[in-house]
Amino acid sequence: MDHNATTPVDTEVVNAMMPFLREIYGNPSSLHYFGQQSKKFLESARINTAKLFNLQTPKNIIFTSCGTESNNMAIKGAAFANKDTKNHIITTKTEHHAILEPCAYLTKYFGFKITYLPVDGYGLVNPDDVKKAITPKTVLISIMHANNETGVIQPLQEISGIAKEYGVLFHTDAVQTAGKIPIDINKLGVDLLSISGHKIYAPKGIGALYLRTDSKSIVSAKQSKIEDIIYTTKKTKMHQLIHGGSHESGRRAGTENVPYIVGLGKACEIAAKNMAKENERLLKLRNKLEQGIKATIPKANINGHPDKRLSNTSNISFEGIESEGLLFLLDKEGFAVSAGSACTSGKQESSHVLAAMGIPPITAQGTIRVSLGHQNTEQDIDDLLHILPKTVAKLRSISPLWNK
Ligand code: PLP
Repeated sequence: MDHNATTPVDTEVVNAMMPFLREIYGNPSSLHYFGQQSKKFLESARINTAKLFNLQTPKNIIFTSCGTESNNMAIKGAAFANKDTKNHIITTKTEHHAILEPCAYLTKYFGFKITYLPVDGYGLVNPDDVKKAITPKTVLISIMHANNETGVIQPLQEISGIAKEYGVLFHTDAVQTAGKIPIDINKLGVDLLSISGHKIYAPKGIGALYLRTDSKSIVSAKQSKIEDIIYTTKKTKMHQLIHGGSHESGRRAGTENVPYIVGLGKACEIAAKNMAKENERLLKLRNKLEQGIKATIPKANINGHPDKRLSNTSNISFEGIESEGLLFLLDKEGFAVSAGSACTSGKQESSHVLAAMGIPPITAQGTIRVSLGHQNTEQDIDDLLHILPKTVAKLRSISPLWNK
């Protein structure tokens, strides 16, 4: 029940990858038969990945090593290429660390100014705040599609309209939405979009960045500036981060990880096929879980927006307890859930996302995230609902916070 942290590799994905770990091992840059054989599959994985986002232009997909790299590439790539004229980035307080830390780095070493926009009690950004924050120095707006802790989905289409109006690049971290909800990149209107393989039943160690280059979707004069900026790394308007070769059309050097790229392409193909049905199924399970919790556990709050939220994610605060204790007891019973962001687990710090939503620290510290996926069944929900009320009650009975 921790699928926002990672997912198992789908059997079909494993099967698709296997030949590329054994027989088909040519370097896609080699001109001989073996190289070109790999190249063919590399490019067909690019087509499958592009299709998940309704893209007719697979060349706009750049394969990377993970969501973190894609985010770094978008943020630092845009910042470095334009730093002589622009030094301002707009993002939000609830981004993943893979956005917040590159931004902090740019401030520390390159003097960039970052506006961290607030969110409301549901975790939503107000598009008017984005508009007000834009200055002539703004090079990039980066706002996540859905939050990894709460599943709250941001109004990206409205924000992309604003970004276009002002000729500012717009990036989104779609690591938690790719493969979970339909994404039409052109309708969404973003210029850059990050995804990660291991959140959609492909292996860890593969990701992609979408980089807009097609002129068709750019209509106004102001927008044509955007095309200049991101058209190609050769024009140095969007710097590459990894240098050393002309792989990925000169945008990311390094021999392509063909087996994992093939795996990502397969995972995208499967997600496109099954998404609608799976979403409906998970929504039913999640609703059952949330209703069950509300009916059986007093002082339990579901955080985030009731509707503008991923159908697999529940973020629940139990007053009077600490989530570490709950996690430990649930783990002993075989339930894997997380407290706040799993990407920083091991380092138990209070959630910056819940803090930005105005949830008091004392409530936030008793919060768990349940994120459902392919393996979860209704029986799992029933089992969790059976164990959770008594576990919370047990922790409350020994908690000084609750007894107060
Ligand atoms: N962005 C979001 C919203 C995430 O949830 C994660 C991982 O949890 C990442 C980025 C990082 O992705 P990766 O683990 O592929 O580096």
